[in-house]
Amino acid sequence: MPKYQGWAGKILRVNLSSGSITTEDTVKYKEYIGGMGLGYKIMWDEVDENTKPFDEENIIVFGAGPLSGTGAPCTARTNITSLLPANPQNLIGDSHMGGHFSPEMKYAGYDAIVIEGKASRPVWLRIEDDKVSLESASRLWGQGIFDTTANISSMMGKEAQVAAIGQAGENQVPLSTIMTNGNHSGGGHGGIMGSKNLKAIGIIGTQSVKYAADKEDWIELNESVMSIIGANNQHVVPSTPQPWAEFHDASSRWTAQEGLYWGAADQEVETGICKPEDTNRIGYRTMKAIKDLGPISEDYTVRMGGCQSCPIRCHSSVKVPELEKYGVSPYVSNTCMGYFNHWYVNQNAESEMDNFLNKTLGAQLADDYGLWFNYGQLGRDLKYLYDNGIFEEVLPEDEYNDIPWDLYEVGDPEFLVDFYRRLAFREGEISHISDGAAQIAERWDLGDDYWNYKTNKLWSRMGYPIHHANESNGQVGALINTIFNRDPMCHSHQNFLGSGLPTKLQKEIAAETWGSEDAIDVPANYTPMNRAKARFAKWSLVRNALHDSMTVCNWMFPMVTSPLKTRNYRGDTTIEAKYFSQATGMKVNEEELDEFGRRIMTLHRAMTVKQMGTVDMRNEHDRIVDWVYEMDPDKNAFEAGTIKMDREDMEKARTMLYEEFGWDPKTGAPTAETLDELGMTDVKQELASKNLLP
Ligand code: SF4
Repeated sequence: MPKYQGWAGKILRVNLSSGSITTEDTVKYKEYIGGMGLGYKIMWDEVDENTKPFDEENIIVFGAGPLSGTGAPCTARTNITSLLPANPQNLIGDSHMGGHFSPEMKYAGYDAIVIEGKASRPVWLRIEDDKVSLESASRLWGQGIFDTTANISSMMGKEAQVAAIGQAGENQVPLSTIMTNGNHSGGGHGGIMGSKNLKAIGIIGTQSVKYAADKEDWIELNESVMSIIGANNQHVVPSTPQPWAEFHDASSRWTAQEGLYWGAADQEVETGICKPEDTNRIGYRTMKAIKDLGPISEDYTVRMGGCQSCPIRCHSSVKVPELEKYGVSPYVSNTCMGYFNHWYVNQNAESEMDNFLNKTLGAQLADDYGLWFNYGQLGRDLKYLYDNGIFEEVLPEDEYNDIPWDLYEVGDPEFLVDFYRRLAFREGEISHISDGAAQIAERWDLGDDYWNYKTNKLWSRMGYPIHHANESNGQVGALINTIFNRDPMCHSHQNFLGSGLPTKLQKEIAAETWGSEDAIDVPANYTPMNRAKARFAKWSLVRNALHDSMTVCNWMFPMVTSPLKTRNYRGDTTIEAKYFSQATGMKVNEEELDEFGRRIMTLHRAMTVKQMGTVDMRNEHDRIVDWVYEMDPDKNAFEAGTIKMDREDMEKARTMLYEEFGWDPKTGAPTAETLDELGMTDVKQELASKNLLP
């Protein structure tokens, strides 16, 4: 790809069945940018709709975007695309890792790695620039992710970036992860690597990524981003009153304050006062363990870690010597879900430490085995199934009696050691809990009580949980949660809603961004659907697709707001287009780049239509479970104090969102006109040949 910069220019393709290793030009995928978009296009072109996740014919794509490796802030995410084993129809989906993997891939000369086929015995893929080989993994197979990563690093050198699976992936557990750096995980695709006998990928790259812009322009753009960046999730007000701050909000992830320390650092580090103008202290703004693990984590925090080129550092690294008695390392590092053992409460807790142990031990075990929490659903399912006596009914008696439920009932950490082992090694009937929610609902005949139990937080009959759904601006979050084939992992809307700014100010900004202040409501005091909300929902999805394609962090972008009073707290929604233009040399404005995002979302929808064999996305795909409409029986939707939704209003919301995307308002499927408009004639022709155009 000589004409453009940003992209490395080549895709590495490895066929594990034949052992062939080839490269091809990235340029043919540039309309889909990279990362997510490139992954979708390769899947669309090459994977038959009847393929199953663990079939040899399935492929898995590790994708970087043109921003990855440029050094621009927050641009080191890796997008992984394949069929989703935990989706009951095995629809296409993504998982995402932070860390340093995708920049290293670019430095080795590749925008993506496409893995095809299946090795006859366990292998790992060794990449050192253009020297690429398949190595025996016979001695790595059976190891956890931490040892695998350490062993490959010792073979390749400590500069190697490693993505690996644990025992859960090897055993093709649907809820399993791929993890890089030993603490950045992408959930959902570990079993795909396992099914291909691929234990890990290790990369060393020694080249550079070139951007097209003049150096001065590039530096100016980076500095402007650093001036408006907030704390994690682009929260722009501090969580406590600060001398410099006009506003504060207790839920903000801008936790820095005097007297708050990284208490287990070699020399105690005080997070202190971090004024927005002090860009050298951005890395102290967020101390996420305080949010995830509670105040006790202050004493155990060693440092904050994170992805390459990110000043935010959202991964809390803690050292918990008490973990060693469970046979695991005392060092735990995570972003969020691995720590979220909130479902597992130590009933005999004498101090905060007891539950802190549950959370850190759970994270450590799950991460090493490579088990995926599915945004907390695994824990909620365990609780539901035990509390309702279902395990007693569906597990063989011997197995049921062998499980240490006495430890579970008191919330003893030892239970987790037993439980996670059973899941990772597929031991017994209980291990099917990690097949995914829809699968266990069918296998164990769970019925409507399971789906409609509000506390269980299931969102779709396809078994994925809510992720900033109706609790995040009503219809906007609800719509966003209907579109993907897993939880949406979309923070575009949530970052804005959670910025911490007062609602009045947020409404002003909403009016400037989506055309009306009615795009947002006062939390839990919703109004009926309107066009501005549809624009907000579509924009959020489009930006999410752009971020995962470019690849930039959707936990920080888009930057609609900023911490700067001098800017009246306005951020800059044109940054992504500026970065794309400056990195690649393809000049686009904000609206033009958003069309790339619409194309990528439309391809995702086309692939979903093709796989499901129906155009009726409204009724077959985008449905949500009943608790959303039936919760709070004493209240109606649109009353203050409830996040309940209204069925008729949600139908209207679907129609409006489909219209915003240019999809058929009746079915929600891409139309021939829109596919032509987006330059997707090949997609149109294939859908037409299968009679799958509305
Ligand atoms: S905010 Fe966190 S996940 Fe996002 S780039 Fe920074 S360290 Fe990585």
